[in-house]
Amino acid sequence: MISSDFPRNILVSDFDGTLTQVDFFQAVLERLLGGDLSIWHSYCQGKITHFEALAGYYQQIRLSEISLKDLVAGLGFPTQFSLLLGQLRLANWDLVIASAGCEWYIRQLVDAQKLENPPMIHANNGTYSAEFGLIMELPRDSPHFDPSIGISKVSVVKSLQGPNHWVAFAGDGPTDLAPALLVEPHLRFAKGSLARLLAERAEYFIPFDHWAEIPFHLIRYYSK
Ligand SMILES: [Mg+2]
Repeated sequence: MISSDFPRNILVSDFDGTLTQVDFFQAVLERLLGGDLSIWHSYCQGKITHFEALAGYYQQIRLSEISLKDLVAGLGFPTQFSLLLGQLRLANWDLVIASAGCEWYIRQLVDAQKLENPPMIHANNGTYSAEFGLIMELPRDSPHFDPSIGISKVSVVKSLQGPNHWVAFAGDGPTDLAPALLVEPHLRFAKGSLARLLAERAEYFIPFDHWAEIPFHLIRYYSK
C-alpha cells in the first residue's frame, strides 16, 4: 500500500467480463462443455445457488492444467494493467477486486503482471487438477462470506465506504447490481447486463467497453 496524506479512494471492480473482456464461465461453457445450460437453469429456477451452479460446471472441466491456463490467458485481461494500476495509485486510488468467480484463474492473470503490490482480491477459493477439474470452495473465513455466491460484493463495498474518500464500483452482471447501487452514481461503471438493469431502473451510470477506460476516467475527474 502506498502511503498518502489523503485517505485513499477505492475502485471495487468485478473481475469476469469487467476486468477481462470474456467471462471465464462463458468461455468454459462454450468451449469445453458444449453450452450445456442444465445446471444454470437449475440456478435460475432457484433449485441451487449461484455458487453451486459455477462449482458444478467447473468440476466438469477436464483439460491439462497448461491448456486451461491458456484459456485463462485468452480472457482479455488489460494489456496495460500494471501501468494503469500504477497511475491509479499515483492519483490516490487503490483497486480491490471482488468476484463471485474463482481466485484460481484471477490470481493467474494478476500474478502474471509481477506486481510489487498486487491488488486485494476477494473471490472463491479453488484448486485445479485434470482429474477432478476446478474445485471451487466457499470462502467461509472471509469477512465478506455469502453462502449463496461465496463473496458478497455488497459487503466488500460497504466495508470500504467512509466519509472522507470516494468508493467507485465497476461491474457487468446481475450480481453487480446491489453493490453498484451503493456507490455514488457518478462513480458507478457498468456494461452488459448490469448496464441494462441500471437503465431499466433509470439509475445513472458511466458506460464502458474496456476496463482501461475506468482508470482514465477516475484519474481525469477524481484525483486528489
Ligand atoms: Mg462479471
